[in-house]
Amino acid sequence: MAYDLIIVGGGPGGATAAKIAAERGSNVLLLEAGEEGRYKCCAGGIPVSNEDFTPIPHGVGEREITGGVIVTPKNGPMEFDTTEEKDKGYCMFRTDFDKYLVDIAHDAGTQVIYGYRAKEIEINSKGVLVKGPKEYRSKCAILATGLGGARLQRSLGMEVPPMISGIQAEFEIPESVITEQFGNRVWEFFDRTISDHGIAWAFPKQEAVSVGILGKNIKIRNFKSFLRYPFIKDKLKGREMKVFGCHKIWAAPIPDRLIAKPYREHVMIIGDACGTADPILYEGIYQARLSGKLAAEIFCKALEEGDFGESSLARYHHLLLKQLYEEDLRYSYKLHTLLYHSGLLEKVIDAAYSMAQEDPEMMQSMIALFTRSQTRKQIWKVMLSHKRKLIKHLGISSSLRLIPSLFRTSRI
Ligand SMILES: Cc1cc2nc3c(=O)[nH]c(=O)nc-3n(C[C@H](O)[C@H](O)[C@H](O)COP(=O)(O)OP(=O)(O)OC[C@H]3O[C@@H](n4cnc5c(N)ncnc54)[C@H](O)[C@@H]3O)c2cc1C
Repeated sequence: MAYDLIIVGGGPGGATAAKIAAERGSNVLLLEAGEEGRYKCCAGGIPVSNEDFTPIPHGVGEREITGGVIVTPKNGPMEFDTTEEKDKGYCMFRTDFDKYLVDIAHDAGTQVIYGYRAKEIEINSKGVLVKGPKEYRSKCAILATGLGGARLQRSLGMEVPPMISGIQAEFEIPESVITEQFGNRVWEFFDRTISDHGIAWAFPKQEAVSVGILGKNIKIRNFKSFLRYPFIKDKLKGREMKVFGCHKIWAAPIPDRLIAKPYREHVMIIGDACGTADPILYEGIYQARLSGKLAAEIFCKALEEGDFGESSLARYHHLLLKQLYEEDLRYSYKLHTLLYHSGLLEKVIDAAYSMAQEDPEMMQSMIALFTRSQTRKQIWKVMLSHKRKLIKHLGISSSLRLIPSLFRTSRI
């Protein structure tokens, strides 16, 4: 039997696309390589805007997040809290979250097969043939394989995004101790002695805290030395790491940039597989889901019109550029250059925090950097409107090093 749509990959991007396409009456098959309830290496922090797609039930969103803590070598903990609904978020285990998203896609009518790894995809004028443990045909395919489907993408002549890596572990800590020591706040560390990129985190869940580092060339030893970092060392003393699938410490890639062409005839690529993650704090769940929604909408139009040709599916790319790139990623790339390629990461964070203390507009934008309650474009504009103060905080010679980020218009 031929399906209308096969989605390869049951992460947040694939599951969101599957639910939308199935709800609109399409015959959808979702193929996921992992078994049901697989562990996914992820800090699991999401902004409340994820509820634009589906409500997050109590229990799946393990801990409601209402603030953040920033630590740099010179300053910290620098704290902020919010009472505004739009600035809230959740920290959760991806095992529960991804299963919930696949379950609701299934309830909407998607056929789900776990433990199926797609090995090859063939495209002809009639549609798509997916080869793996069994063969399945469809009119269209959405590749939502995260960064695990690089071989499939290349075999279709499609680009794979560049990536950096994350290393993390989940520490078992009683709920009351987490509440006392971390609060309902995500902790972000900015310090280039931790890793080449200079970011690390501690995200509190209900009875575990996800602790990790990000970088281009990071090793387990970088992660282990972060466990001895001030503010972390004491909190983790005597705590055990949880074991998932025989491992305590997990590493996984995160994309660094959007690919130039995430579609061809009969195929669209969404989420991490096409590089939608945000390269400031490197979160990508919301973005994967947004791209899944847009791809599903274009798929439904193409199905109605009976046209899965390249120019028909190019409409997905136009929407992605308009809704994600023009509002967010374009400015994330500028902020990325400013933070990670100026050599001033810690100084810029310290300056932004000091400015935020004096100015409510800056404080709101600083909070929004973590919570996504403003687009990256809005945050960039607020920052530019405060450039004199920023220059004053950084000094003239340091400020000159920020100039390339002003002219960095595009990374795709
Ligand atoms: C250490 C770390 C921490 C992170 N923390 C956060 C965070 O706090 N907040 C946030 O928003 N983002 C975070 N991210 C990023 C986030 O995990 C990704 O952006 C997000 O998972 C992308 O979703 P996706 O659906 O595109 O891909 P994925 O979630 O990677 O899902 C892809 C799915 O495809 C399946 N698959 C792969 N190949 C095949 C195949 N051939 N056949 C069938 N199935 C296949 C995989 O098993 C997987 O389930 C983090 C990433 C890392 C590495």
